Amino acid sequence: MATTAQTSIAAHPKFEPVIGLEVHVQLLTASKIFCSCSTRFGAPPNTNVCPVCLGMPGALPVLNKKAVEFATLAAMALNCRINETSIFARKNYFYPDLPKGYQISQYDKPLAEHGYIEIPASETGDGSSGAGSNGGKPKKQIGITRVHMEEDAGKSLHEGFPDSDEKTAIDLNRTGVPLIEIVSEPEIASPDEAYEYLTRLKEIILHTGVSDCNMEEGSLRADANVSVRPRGQKEFGTKTEIKNVNSFRFIREALEYEIGRQIDVIESGGKIMQETRLYNANEGKTYGMRSKEQAHDYRYFPEPDLLPLVVDEKWRAEIARALPELPEARRARIVKEYGITEYDAQVLTVSKSLADQFEEAAKAAKNPKRVANLVQGELMGRLKAKGISIEQSPISMRGVAASADLVESGAISGKMLKDLYDLSFERGKDFDVVYEEEGRPQQSTDTSALEKLVAEIFAANPRQREQYPSKESLQGFFVGQVMRASKGKANPQAVNRLTRYPGRIPKIGDRVGILGRNDTFEIVDVDETHWQAVVRLVPDVGCKESILWSLLVFLD
Ligand SMILES: [Zn+2]
Repeated sequence: MATTAQTSIAAHPKFEPVIGLEVHVQLLTASKIFCSCSTRFGAPPNTNVCPVCLGMPGALPVLNKKAVEFATLAAMALNCRINETSIFARKNYFYPDLPKGYQISQYDKPLAEHGYIEIPASETGDGSSGAGSNGGKPKKQIGITRVHMEEDAGKSLHEGFPDSDEKTAIDLNRTGVPLIEIVSEPEIASPDEAYEYLTRLKEIILHTGVSDCNMEEGSLRADANVSVRPRGQKEFGTKTEIKNVNSFRFIREALEYEIGRQIDVIESGGKIMQETRLYNANEGKTYGMRSKEQAHDYRYFPEPDLLPLVVDEKWRAEIARALPELPEARRARIVKEYGITEYDAQVLTVSKSLADQFEEAAKAAKNPKRVANLVQGELMGRLKAKGISIEQSPISMRGVAASADLVESGAISGKMLKDLYDLSFERGKDFDVVYEEEGRPQQSTDTSALEKLVAEIFAANPRQREQYPSKESLQGFFVGQVMRASKGKANPQAVNRLTRYPGRIPKIGDRVGILGRNDTFEIVDVDETHWQAVVRLVPDVGCKESILWSLLVFLD
C-alpha cells in the first residue's frame, strides 16, 4: 500500500528530484465564471447549465466580477504581483466534457505572477521528517510562477450506471465553474517539501475564504511535474506529470514512487519518456497514461469574445482590504501574544475557524494566557493520546476558556481541572457539560480544615521544618505536601499563605497581628511541633485560639 519506504529518495547519493506543482482551486462564487448558472456541488446532472456553458453557437461569455476579486485576493495572499492587464485565451482541445472544443484560460498574460510560499526548510539529506516543523526552523521560499483564471470542464462519468461498461455519461454542471491555477517554480526538492507546499497553500487559500479547498469534491486538485537529475547538474531531466491524485499524502507517496522509478530507469540505462502518469494508491505505483509529446499544442490565442481584464490600482486596493491576516503572520503573532510554542500555534491555525475560536476564547477569558497554557498543557497531550485532531476535540475552545476562568477564580484547582478534562475525554462531552454533570465541584476553601492539615504537615516533617528558617525555598516542598494530602482540592493561594515562613519565631508575650484581621493578639503558648501559636485577643476577652505561625504578623 503505502510507500515501500525506499530509504529516503531525497537522500539519494547520485540523483536529486526536481518537482513543480500545478494546483487548481475552485472559487466559491455563487455563479459560474462566464454565465449566471449556479456552481452548487451535487445538483442533479446537467441541471446547472445554459447556452453559454453548454457552448451553444452565438452564446457570449460575461466575466463574473466576484471571480476576479477572489482570484486576485488569492494571488495577493500568495505574494504575487497582480498584472494590471491580463488576457483570456482559448486553449483548444477536444474532449467530450468540453462542449465548446476549447477552454477559456489565460496564457501569456496571466492575472498574477512572481509569488511565493514559505515552507519550513527540511534538513537537507533526510526528507523523512519534513512534515513536522519545530520552533524557529529556517524557512525556504518556493516560487510561484503564475496564478491565472480559467473555467472548469465538465465531468465524464465512467461508472455508476447500468451500461457503464459500454458508455460514458457526461455531467456538464461543472463546466464554467471558476478556477484559479497556481503554478509553482520547479523549486521543490523532495516529496516532503511538496507536501509542505500543498499544506501551506491550502491553509493560505482557506484563510482568504475564496475556496473551501475540498479535495473530495474536487475544489482543490494538484498535479505534480517531476524529474530527476544527477546531483550538481543544472539542466533538468525529462519530466513526467502525475495527475488526479486526491490527497496530499498520496501525492507525497506518488512522488516517492515516481522518483525511485525514474532513478531505476536511468541507472539501468533507460530513458524517461515525457508522459502523464496516474497513481494507484492501492498499489502505491504510478502508471503511464498517455504520451505528452503531441498533446502540447493547444494553439492558444486571445479569446475574441472577452475584453482584456483590467484590475487597476483602485480595484486592487479595494480587494486588498479584504485580505485577512495570513496563517504565517498569525502564527508569529499568536506565539508572541500568548507565549505558546510554534508547534502549538501551527496546530491552532490549521484552519481559520479554529484560530478564530481560539483567539475568541482567549480574549473572552479572564486570563488569555491561561487559555493558551491549557490548550498546550492539557488539551494537546490528550488529543495526541487519543489520536484525534483538535477539530474533533470533545472540549471546545469555549470549554477551555470556561475551565481557565474557573481555575483563575480559584473555584477549582489544577488537579480538579485535569480530572474534569479526563472525564470530558472519557464521555466525549464538552467541559461545561461535564462540569454541570459533576455538580459544579468547588475546591475546598474551608480554611480551618486546611489550617489543621498544614499544621499536620509541619508536624510530620520536622527535618524540613528545621531547615525552613534558613531555606525559604522549602515552601515549595510544604505546598506540595499539602496539595498531595488534600488530593489537589486545596486552594493553592490559601496553601501558599498558610505555609509561608513568618521570619521570626514567636515568643510567649509577643504582641502580634494575624493576616486578614485587624485586632492585636498576644502569644500565650507556642506549639513547636505543629508550628502553631496560642493567641489571645488584646484587650483580653477571655478566649484563646490556636493559629499557624505563618499567619502571624509581628508588631514592633
Ligand atoms: Zn451556464
